[in-house]
Amino acid sequence: MSRRVAFGVNAIERLATIFEDLGINKLHIFSGCTKTKEITEKLVIPQISEGIEFDFTPLPHNADLSYLKKIANRIDPLQTYLIAVGGGTVIDFVKLLANMSNTEYIAVPTNASHDGFSSPYINFLLRTQVDQFFKKELSQIYKPISPLAIVGDTTMISKAPRDSLKAGVGDILSKWVAVEDWKLANRLKGEDYDIYAASFSEMTATMVEERINALGKNFFGEKGVRALIKALGSSGVAMCIAGSSRPASGSEHLVSHALDMLSSEYDFHVLHGHQTGISSILMMYLHGGDWKRIQESLKKVSAPLTLRELGIDRDIMLLALQKAQNIRPERYTVLSEGLTKSAAENAIEMTGID
Ligand SMILES: [Zn+2]
Repeated sequence: MSRRVAFGVNAIERLATIFEDLGINKLHIFSGCTKTKEITEKLVIPQISEGIEFDFTPLPHNADLSYLKKIANRIDPLQTYLIAVGGGTVIDFVKLLANMSNTEYIAVPTNASHDGFSSPYINFLLRTQVDQFFKKELSQIYKPISPLAIVGDTTMISKAPRDSLKAGVGDILSKWVAVEDWKLANRLKGEDYDIYAASFSEMTATMVEERINALGKNFFGEKGVRALIKALGSSGVAMCIAGSSRPASGSEHLVSHALDMLSSEYDFHVLHGHQTGISSILMMYLHGGDWKRIQESLKKVSAPLTLRELGIDRDIMLLALQKAQNIRPERYTVLSEGLTKSAAENAIEMTGID
C-alpha cells in the first residue's frame, strides 16, 4: 500500500516534502507527450530540489512494449524512483517499467476517470498485450505493485475534460455491483469474502454518491472532484486489502472488458468509466438490487445513461453480454450461470439503457 497520499488543492506542491521524507535522490519522470508533458514541466519539475538527479521521458504516442523494454534497461534499480504524471496509459506503462526494472513508483494522476492510478493491476487490454508480447503467463511477468505515493492535485484535475470526470463517477459507482458479485460468489461457491475490503470498496461509492446528492450539478468543482479522486484512490486500498481486484471489479467490469475486445472490430471507443457505469445499471438489475440508485447518481452529474449516447449498438452490447462470462471464468459473478439473449434484451429494456 502507498506510504504517502496527498489529495487536495495544489497537492502537487507537497511533492518536494514527499521526496525528502522518502529519502529519494534520483528520479525518472514519465508523462505523455502533449498536455501531461506541459504539466510536468510547469508543476512537477519545479518541485525537484537541487540535490536530486532526474531524467524526464515523455512517452511517445506510439510507445509499445518493446519501447518500454529498452527504457527499463536504462533504469538503475538501486538509485531510481519512477514518477508517472498522466492518465491511465502512462501510469500503467510505469507500473510495467517498475516491474521490469525492480523499482518503485509515485503516481501523479492528471485525471480522475478511473481507479487505475491506485490499482496494483494494469488494465485489461494491456494485460492481453503483455501476454502476447512476452509469450508467458502474466503472473510470470507482472507482479501487482502499488504506488509508493499518490499525489492527486484537485486544482489540476478539476480542469480535466468533464467527460472523463463523469467516467470516473461511472467507475466508482460500479463498486456496489462488484461487491454484490463477490457476495454471490461467497454464498454460492464458498469463495472467501473479506468484509473489510468489501465495505471499504462500497464506502468509496457511497462517499461519491453523498457528495453528488449534496452538490448536484456543481459536483465537478474542487469539492466534488476531491471526493472523486479520494474515492478512486481508496479503491486501490480495497484491492490491496483483498489481495485481488475482487472488491473493485465484478460482472460490470467483465462487460466493459468484452466491449473493449469488440471496440476495434466494430470501430468505437468509449471511456472505461462510461462502460462500467452503464454496465453497472444493467448488472445491478440482474442482481435484483437497487439499479435505479446508480442510474440516479449518474443522471445527476449528466453522465451518459444510454448505449445510444455512448455510440454503442444494442447488438454489440448483446454480444458483449454473451462474451463477458467467458473472459475470466474463475471470477464468479451474476453472469456466470449464463444469461440468455432474451433475458439480456429484457434487462436492456427494463433499465432503459437502450
Ligand atoms: Zn474500473
